[in-house]
Amino acid sequence: MKNSIYFSEEHDMFREQLRRFIEAEIVPNGEKWEEEGTTPREVLRRMGELGFLGIRYPEVYGGSEMDTLATVILAEELGRSTFGGFAVTVLVHTDMASPHLFNAGNKEQLDRFMPDIISGKKITAIAVTEPGAGSDVASIRTKATQTKGGWILNGTKMFITNGIYGDLFVVAAKTGSTSSTSRSYIVTMFIVEKGTKGFSNGQKLNKMGWHSSDTAELIFDNCFVPDKNVLGEVNQGFYAIMRNFQNERLVLGAQALGEAQKAIELTVDYVKERKAFNSVLWDKQAIRQRLAQRAGEVEAGRQLLYYAAWLDSQGVKCIKEVSMVKAYCGELVNRVMYDCQQFHGGFGYMKESTIERMVRDARIQSIGGGATEVMLEEVAKRM
Ligand SMILES: Cc1cc2nc3c(=O)[nH]c(=O)nc-3n(C[C@H](O)[C@H](O)[C@H](O)COP(=O)(O)OP(=O)(O)OC[C@H]3O[C@@H](n4cnc5c(N)ncnc54)[C@H](O)[C@@H]3O)c2cc1C
Repeated sequence: MKNSIYFSEEHDMFREQLRRFIEAEIVPNGEKWEEEGTTPREVLRRMGELGFLGIRYPEVYGGSEMDTLATVILAEELGRSTFGGFAVTVLVHTDMASPHLFNAGNKEQLDRFMPDIISGKKITAIAVTEPGAGSDVASIRTKATQTKGGWILNGTKMFITNGIYGDLFVVAAKTGSTSSTSRSYIVTMFIVEKGTKGFSNGQKLNKMGWHSSDTAELIFDNCFVPDKNVLGEVNQGFYAIMRNFQNERLVLGAQALGEAQKAIELTVDYVKERKAFNSVLWDKQAIRQRLAQRAGEVEAGRQLLYYAAWLDSQGVKCIKEVSMVKAYCGELVNRVMYDCQQFHGGFGYMKESTIERMVRDARIQSIGGGATEVMLEEVAKRM
């Protein structure tokens, strides 16, 4: 990104290194992982060794102390891999689950968990959504009751990424005295380790896309969590979740943007080769103008994304801008995929085409991690 007002030489080097790694080690294998329904642990370990899993974390734990713009690079480049399932496996770990632990953890917890998180030895998951509460976090029903030396968790979490293969689960539970069925903001976060008695997986869930990411139901049945695994302040978890959702939304926007950019590139290549009515498809004005239009929209989204990331890196409050990024990019990637698949013709409907997978993978981008309508409410509140 030479001459960028946002990126330094260090950022550019990071992007190049990441792109090389993805081309060499992800793209050739991604299809196999889609079929297997998971991204192998060795890949995450390898990414840990290369320093990709701790870019924002302190050096003392193995991180590289970069900024929000570096996070955006990570998410964009993973999105460009064309394997959304792989991308989200990594990004949930680096930017949606582990930040809860890092931001709220005490010294003992950070010392205990961060080195393994950054090296990829332990993979994290974030468990907020439930069968009856997704967008409306205050309606969760999982309950934690205080007991001697810790807390007893009861409840079910739904659609949890890294739910089967993860090791450390950041779990939101109600700790207030209100009825477990009502909306309330009295929530506490807990670290639940794989293998804890009373904690199990429901079925691995089958999805439309993101096949190389595992998604599961989690069940807490009188699960004892010791006091040392309480994350942050008791009863203040709701506000911590909302704060950490900012990073999650920025990252999902960046991933969507990377996917959209790559889809346009693939489609331009395709229509410059494919012939119909005596010339290549690119010669049809309707096609090249639509692609030019989408390219402009992607560029506009990118500028908003970089601006929001820059604001965040300067410590400026930017809930409105981040919500715009998530809403805009989540919708845009779907419009882009629709057109790109259209211009691939019948081939774009075939499993062997890359665009077919990208279309399926993109659909969740306007739903998960803050649906478009919820994001627009965040914007509207600030208008
Ligand atoms: C593949 C996948 C992976 C996921 N991974 C995780 C994870 O790792 N951890 C986790 O905790 N959760 C995860 N989720 C959950 C995800 O974040 C939720 O599905 C999402 O927040 C929407 O919640 P919901 O499904 O309950 O939809 P609902 O809240 O029931 O909403 C349904 C739809 O209604 C609309 N809507 C909602 N609220 C409003 C409103 N106020 N105004 C107007 N319209 C509205 C939106 O269009 C929304 O899509 C995952 C989901 C999927 C599908």
